Amino acid sequence: MSYERIVVLGGGTAGWMTAVALATGLQGTQVELVESEDIGTVGVGEATFPSIRNYHQIVGIQEADFLRATQGTYKLGIRFCDWRVRGEDYYHTFGDFGELDGPHALWGQYRRHVNAGLPKFGEQCLPTVMAMRDRFCAPGQGAASFNYAYHFDANLYARFLRDIAIKRGVRRTEGKVVDVTRRADGGVASLRLDDGRVVAGDLFIDCSGFVSLLLGRTLEEPFLDYSRWLPVDRAWAVPSARTSTALTPYTRATALESGWAWRIPLQDRTGNGHVFSSRFIDEDKAREQLLQQLDGEALAEPRLLRFTTGRRERFWVHNVVGIGLATGFLEPLESTSIYLIQAGLGNLMPLLVPRTRVAPEAIEAYNRGLTRQFERIRDFILLHYCLTARRDTPFWNAMAHVELPDTLAYKLHAWRQTGVLHQYDVEGFDGHSWLAIYAGMHCWPERADPRLSDLPLATSLDWVQTRARQLAEAVAPLATHDTYLARILGR
Ligand SMILES: Cc1cc2nc3c(=O)[nH]c(=O)nc-3n(C[C@H](O)[C@H](O)[C@H](O)COP(=O)(O)OP(=O)(O)OC[C@H]3O[C@@H](n4cnc5c(N)ncnc54)[C@H](O)[C@@H]3O)c2cc1C
Repeated sequence: MSYERIVVLGGGTAGWMTAVALATGLQGTQVELVESEDIGTVGVGEATFPSIRNYHQIVGIQEADFLRATQGTYKLGIRFCDWRVRGEDYYHTFGDFGELDGPHALWGQYRRHVNAGLPKFGEQCLPTVMAMRDRFCAPGQGAASFNYAYHFDANLYARFLRDIAIKRGVRRTEGKVVDVTRRADGGVASLRLDDGRVVAGDLFIDCSGFVSLLLGRTLEEPFLDYSRWLPVDRAWAVPSARTSTALTPYTRATALESGWAWRIPLQDRTGNGHVFSSRFIDEDKAREQLLQQLDGEALAEPRLLRFTTGRRERFWVHNVVGIGLATGFLEPLESTSIYLIQAGLGNLMPLLVPRTRVAPEAIEAYNRGLTRQFERIRDFILLHYCLTARRDTPFWNAMAHVELPDTLAYKLHAWRQTGVLHQYDVEGFDGHSWLAIYAGMHCWPERADPRLSDLPLATSLDWVQTRARQLAEAVAPLATHDTYLARILGR
């Protein structure tokens, strides 16, 4: 089956990212996007992962245009507060740790020094040092190499992409899908809208959000529930007024009694949310806890979102490919949903060659690849919880005793026993990221690599102190995030 007419169902972030990718990569193919203003979009999803920069580069979006259109700011990573114990914090930014990095690097040495008045682990990582001081500059200036992402207003982003997609030839159809006609082979033939119009296609991209209208409801692809590992199932979200404090170049994720709260700085306001498990706290109390977290006046009534963590068993079934929330959701702790949209598009686009049949083996490989992505990210998110030393609430006690998936249990074992940062074939997060969480949660290998016994303590101590000093010196003259952003925006 080749695909000449592609229908995208849904105009949220997933739908419009897909439409722009198709219009850019498959010129000449008819692309139609159906969305319903009445139903609306999920409207959250304001923090991203660095891969969004690759997406922008591929589809030809300029950073300054994007930041201007979406109230966007820069994101060096995430600051985790109170996750291991109350009163402690650490950063996961997108950079390396110098001499301390690598699968057999200086873990043991650092650990032996850890009580000797050493700099904090994060002070070995350039973007973390920048984040701690609210500084920002793009990488590649000087010898610095690290990565970064953005925060933005999800509704404005969808609108921004919509304008680009329409300019590139995507047809937008407003209407609510009320019925789906099937083909003899089980696939989808057409969508019927509430005013009777029919939208037919060869390939349907299901971007209908949590409702998963085609992949889930119509094709009945099973949903694999991950809530035994990731039990959060609700979020309150509310914007608040920007305060006079510095614009932080990071997302803050603060562990609360039965979940955690996000704080996402945008140009004009701050995005806030409380992700929690309704098994451990009721909705009203969770709402109250969110409002207590705000550092500025609430600009709207908090909005409640309900979800179940997990994924569809397959992502491409017959002539339906799910992208975005229609395929599943892994909770927003590491801002990976938009990354998963991109992972889907990155695997899909090379298979869509005009007038060429997509082989069943390619579809199987597509499903395998995304399954791995979901599983690896699930493990990475769970790592943040399972290493907690908190036992002060039933939620944290339960998270500390979750039975781990085998894939994560093996990684943890390899790390603790030998100091090896084991990586599987498809990984969303590299070794630096795993290391940032292990170090932040004080999870160190039990043994130093024997090869390190030849390294005098004084030498490694000197390395660590020198690097911390050099990074502090490099960051001191950099512009603040506010100033850098104003410069990029031409203000
Ligand atoms: C609490 C929370 C926090 C999140 N935070 C982040 C984050 O920080 N970073 C991140 O990357 N992701 C985050 N996400 C996920 C992110 O919001 C989504 O991945 C992203 O917005 C994509 O959503 P979507 O386009 O798949 O679905 P939606 O935005 O729900 O869009 C669905 C579309 O389908 C249309 N539709 C549905 N049914 C019909 C119908 N019958 N007829 C016609 N149209 C229909 C709707 O009108 C809408 O246009 C978060 C999600 C939640 C719940």
